[in-house]
Amino acid sequence: MSDLRERYQAAFMPNYGVPPLALVRGEGCRVWDADGRAYLDLIAGIAVSSLGHGHPALVEAVSAQVATLAHTSNLFVNEPAVLLAERLLDLLGGDGRVFLSNSGTEANECALKLAIKHGRANGRSVFVATENGFHGRSMGALALTGKASIREPFGPHALDVRFVPYGDVAALKAAVDEDCAALFLEPAQGEGGVVPPPDGYLAAAREICDATGALLVSDEIQSAIGRTGAWFAFEHDLAGARPDILTLAKGLGGGLPIGACVAFGPHGGIFAKGDHGSTFGGNPVAAAAALAVLTTIERDGLLGNAAATGEVLAAGIAAVEHPLLAGVRGRGLWRAAVLTGPHAPAAEAAARAAGFLVNAVQPDALRLAPPLTLTAGQARSFTDALPAILDATEVAA
Ligand SMILES: *Cc1c(COP(=O)(O)O)cnc(C)c1O
Repeated sequence: MSDLRERYQAAFMPNYGVPPLALVRGEGCRVWDADGRAYLDLIAGIAVSSLGHGHPALVEAVSAQVATLAHTSNLFVNEPAVLLAERLLDLLGGDGRVFLSNSGTEANECALKLAIKHGRANGRSVFVATENGFHGRSMGALALTGKASIREPFGPHALDVRFVPYGDVAALKAAVDEDCAALFLEPAQGEGGVVPPPDGYLAAAREICDATGALLVSDEIQSAIGRTGAWFAFEHDLAGARPDILTLAKGLGGGLPIGACVAFGPHGGIFAKGDHGSTFGGNPVAAAAALAVLTTIERDGLLGNAAATGEVLAAGIAAVEHPLLAGVRGRGLWRAAVLTGPHAPAAEAAARAAGFLVNAVQPDALRLAPPLTLTAGQARSFTDALPAILDATEVAA
């Protein structure tokens, strides 16, 4: 394994550092490293492997499609992509149009181009996004990302963005006005540390956008496809309403790279022919994978499992009394164990040594985003081990 890590370091750009483990195999919620050690995967490749590893439905769908037709480009129609777009629209209540991309950041670039075009037609050029929000690494999505340390080294950006504190309705009211083309909002901040907004915040955002004519773009790249126990996280908060534009990626493909931008009502018709495109977007193998994910979530009741097992996980963490543990937040199988100080990197390492993969998403927050197939017993195996993991966490002096 040290050999693989050394070769990684020599061959790759240093932007990720050198990851601590090389993984070679997965089965269900378990993965194995290059030395043959097994881990319970509680991060699922950053909320991506929604069916776990090696799920037969995914293996079958991808294998059959790659053997039949692996790629068409958007010069030709392929049926899996059409079925996927139809299925997404069904889940979302219809009356929308879909663009398929290969990643989250590209789904947001599509949303951004829609909003720019909508704004130009209506004399609006300002964007509003949130401090500590995350929308991706490509230059448009990065301009909307509210973390100065990753945005500013690549500025100035060609987008006029007002950043507001997340969860603050008064700040939203002040920032979203008649000049605003769109508000980009996560239903809970994922990279920010799985931080849910106060009750009523998303509904207030919907009202403010309705009152001013700004588009509400819900970035559900991390939160959707069952992660919170609902297909889409906005369903918890918007009481039957929808955003104007929705972006998806991560869990949608179950491990295959795919993203989607869905625009509702008249916004589905903003692009004219030639306004946007992608060679790989709508690739039939990725679309077949996403269809298998959606079908399996429905067939196996995984929304219910995410809600119920998420409660077991949260209750188990909440029951641990330890000087390093402050509490737990999040919804469904999308949680953060909140620590009393900047101990998350050390706690992540201690968890790994104990056979659990978690993610130090913030200095004081451990993110848990396991496969939606996680069992209550697996959740308990982690919360039972948590006191010892925290005991083994080396507290920085
Ligand atoms: C991960 C993520 C993105 C970026 O997705 P990539 O596939 O890494 O480009 C954008 N927005 C949110 C909320 C995310 O969690």
